[in-house]
Amino acid sequence: MRIQGLQKLTLLDFPEKTACTVFTAGCNFRCPFCHNASLVVHISKEAEISEDDFFAFLNKRQGILDGVCVSGGEPLLQPDIENFIRRIKELGYAVKLDTNGSFPDKLMHLVESGLVDYVAMDIKNSPETYAMTCGVDALDMASIEKSVSYLKEGHVPYEFRTTVVKNYHFKENFELIGQWLQSTEKYFLQNFVDSGDLIGKRVTGCSEEEMKEYLQVVQRYIPEAKLRGI
Ligand code: SF4
Repeated sequence: MRIQGLQKLTLLDFPEKTACTVFTAGCNFRCPFCHNASLVVHISKEAEISEDDFFAFLNKRQGILDGVCVSGGEPLLQPDIENFIRRIKELGYAVKLDTNGSFPDKLMHLVESGLVDYVAMDIKNSPETYAMTCGVDALDMASIEKSVSYLKEGHVPYEFRTTVVKNYHFKENFELIGQWLQSTEKYFLQNFVDSGDLIGKRVTGCSEEEMKEYLQVVQRYIPEAKLRGI
C-alpha cells in the first residue's frame, strides 16, 4: 500500500463514527479541482507512511476510534487494497471507502466480501461532461455508471457527492445529475474550497446563492439531497 497521509481523528467524514482517515497515493483521474494534488501528481517518496506505522497507530487507537476512512487518491487503484482493508477490519474497525467509482468490479468484490461498511462515491458531473470534469480523455463512463447502479441497489450504505466548481457546473448539469441519480437517498453538494494543493489553476467555487439554486434543481429528483459544509 502506498500510504501518503493520515488524519488521526475525524468526526465528520464517517457518518456516526469517530474515525481516522488514511490517504492512499495515486489516482487515475486528474480533476483540476482536486485538492490533494500531492497524492496524485506530486507524489513524494519522503511523505510515505509505512503500513507498519499505520497499523501500530490503529492498534493504539482500538477502543477509541470506531472507524477508518480509506481515501486518496483512488484507493481501488492499490493492488493490495483487499488485504489492507481486511487487516483494518480484523482490528474491529468499520471501514468507509472513498472512491471515484471507476473500478466497479473491485468495489463490488469488497462490498460482497463484507469488507466495507460505507461507500462515498464522487459524482464529478453529468455524464456527457464527466470526462472533461475529471481530466481524462478516454474515460470509461460505463464503469462509472456501473458503480452508480450497483450502489443504488443498496448492497451497502452509501452516499453520492459532488464537489461544485464554478468553472464546470451549471444549472443544466444538476438537472441531468438529478435525473441520473434519482431515487438515491443520500446526495450531497459540497462547494469547492481551494486547499492550496490543486491540480488545476484558476478553479473557483460558487456563491451560496448558486449552491442553493443547484440544490433546488437536484431536489426535484432527489428530495433528500443536501448541501454540505454550508
Ligand atoms: S479529486 Fe479527482 S484526481 Fe483527486 S483524488 Fe479524487 S478522483 Fe482523483
